[in-house]
Amino acid sequence: MEKKFKSLSIAHFLSKFGTENDCFEHLVQLKWGNKYACGHCGNKKYCKAVRLYDRQCSRCSYIESPTSGTIFHKIKFSLVKAFQIVYFLATNKKGISSCQLARTLQLRQKTCWLFKQKIMRAMESTNRHPLEGNVEIVEFEIGHISKKEDRELKDTTQKVLIAIEKKSLGASRIYATELQDLGVDICRKFILKKVSLDATIHAIDKSPFNNLKSEGLMVELFDSSNTKMNSSTSKRVVNCLKNWITTIHCNVKYLQQYLDEYCYRHNRHLMKEEIIDDLLGRMVRHKPAPYKTFIV
Ligand SMILES: [Zn+2]
Repeated sequence: MEKKFKSLSIAHFLSKFGTENDCFEHLVQLKWGNKYACGHCGNKKYCKAVRLYDRQCSRCSYIESPTSGTIFHKIKFSLVKAFQIVYFLATNKKGISSCQLARTLQLRQKTCWLFKQKIMRAMESTNRHPLEGNVEIVEFEIGHISKKEDRELKDTTQKVLIAIEKKSLGASRIYATELQDLGVDICRKFILKKVSLDATIHAIDKSPFNNLKSEGLMVELFDSSNTKMNSSTSKRVVNCLKNWITTIHCNVKYLQQYLDEYCYRHNRHLMKEEIIDDLLGRMVRHKPAPYKTFIV
């Protein structure tokens, strides 16, 4: 994946988004383009406001900035640095930790952590592109260390369900969800959201999966001892995901967000510059994510 992004160097990126004006102009295009509509009354006409990139509704006088109502809402640091966080998160094969971001961009680690969490919200699947063709469903466990309230460390494991769309010899697209238990209903909902009704599902012959046939899905079930079931592709995908989670994010409190981040990048590994615009566009369309929504 890394090689495919080589053409989009940080120097190239900064030549496009090196100033606050560059970033504001890009957000204006992503947010309004040629289709301005007042966020308050829906009116289509505006006039200039006092601040350069703000727009004021000609009917109700509501003033809106390019960042309001988006993930950039009330951002406390420069847009140049915010765009660079998006760049690093979208283009680094393994993502980037908030500590690395803080060192690179001279920001507080907590600031980077929060903004990264917001970006990860925008990476969440829209469920508009279900997997097609041959789709393998695999359940596995991820072990990690979590802190208890008394600050002792505790080893825990979490179950994950992953759907892998296989093309040629590789995994073209993937989706994953954390599971509290392998409940029939959770599996069913996940598969119906993420897998096309025309796909052929390959899964182990056990409770959550053998009920899928009754949903009208094409399902090929394997005995759990059948070595053909977990193909080398699926094993590779699962091992890479587990290694990424346990080495980069050893203290995983927000597993679903990390799964979303991993799947987002995997599913766009053939994109070059488009991944930046895709992610920025998602962040502009996504409603604001205040800090309190990240407290669990
Ligand atoms: Zn208005």
